Amino acid sequence: MPLVTMRQLLDEASKGGYGVGAFNVNNLEQIQAIMEAARETQSPVIIQASRGARKYANDRFLYHLMEAAAEIYPEIPVALHQDHGNSPETCKSAIDLGFTSVMMDGSLMDDGKTPADFEYNVKVTREVVEMAHERGVTVEGELGTLGGIEDGVGSGEVNLTDPDQAVEFVERTGVDALAVAIGTSHGAYKFTKEPDREVLAMHIIEEINKRLPNTHLVMHGSSSVPKELVDLINQYGGKIEPTWGVPVREIQEGIKHGVRKINVDTDLRLASTGAIRKAFAEEPSEFDPRYYLKPARAAMQEVVHSRMESFGQAGHAGDYQPMTKEEMATRYEKEGHELTAS
Ligand SMILES: [Zn+2]
Repeated sequence: MPLVTMRQLLDEASKGGYGVGAFNVNNLEQIQAIMEAARETQSPVIIQASRGARKYANDRFLYHLMEAAAEIYPEIPVALHQDHGNSPETCKSAIDLGFTSVMMDGSLMDDGKTPADFEYNVKVTREVVEMAHERGVTVEGELGTLGGIEDGVGSGEVNLTDPDQAVEFVERTGVDALAVAIGTSHGAYKFTKEPDREVLAMHIIEEINKRLPNTHLVMHGSSSVPKELVDLINQYGGKIEPTWGVPVREIQEGIKHGVRKINVDTDLRLASTGAIRKAFAEEPSEFDPRYYLKPARAAMQEVVHSRMESFGQAGHAGDYQPMTKEEMATRYEKEGHELTAS
């Protein structure tokens, strides 16, 4: 099966009323863990690479690993997405490489740190939408800023998304999906206590969904940071301070209100680190990397499996045939004509 476009994958999720996990990767074991979990649960899935991941692995390695995944798991619809593109150039390089979806994060300037103003965000996002849609590639935009820093990305400052601005942003840019800031953060240290609905500003999601029922909403920084994963790391010599992530039940609440893509990165990092620490502690004489990478891969697979069931994507892999990017480009072209005609 060829890589599917994220737009089709999210449209189908919308029809089916479920969410789809978008898992970050930068190596072979992560991709294997995610694809195995997708096969076990028969789930469509989004695999995403940040700029940092593309640099770490070399993006041609990542792309060809994904091609291998599409070949080995032909029954699984999988979209390959650029996470937090910092500029139209970054998005273009991802599209040229074969990614089926890109995020243009114009909420920040191209240094990936300084908050940008609304007009800048509209301008760069619109530019990417024009370039991407012509080639059938999906675009995610971001309005508002998240807390925390992820792979060097982020201002560390939280600016919640304004629903009025969200409507204007989507109308002017034509994005397929919108990342909204509701008070979550990148990284492991999201909250100092278990967040409730108020801390999470879930009403923003409900409000935006009411006004933009056809825009797929995206929750970033949505690892749940399960206590057992943190405890395992600390039990084997780690030092992770007590911390809380986004509870799965709040994500499920979001899914009822138009959230279709849920970004999960930290939980896989925690799962693999715990498994590796445990393996090191239990057999200090072992030095074959497969000895500790196997349990690391299994631990990540378990987390992904569980999220796929919680988000509702499990069982939906066989629901549809992927459209080609060319077919998607034709659809965008038609929609564009209808919009200008009306
Ligand atoms: Zn993010």
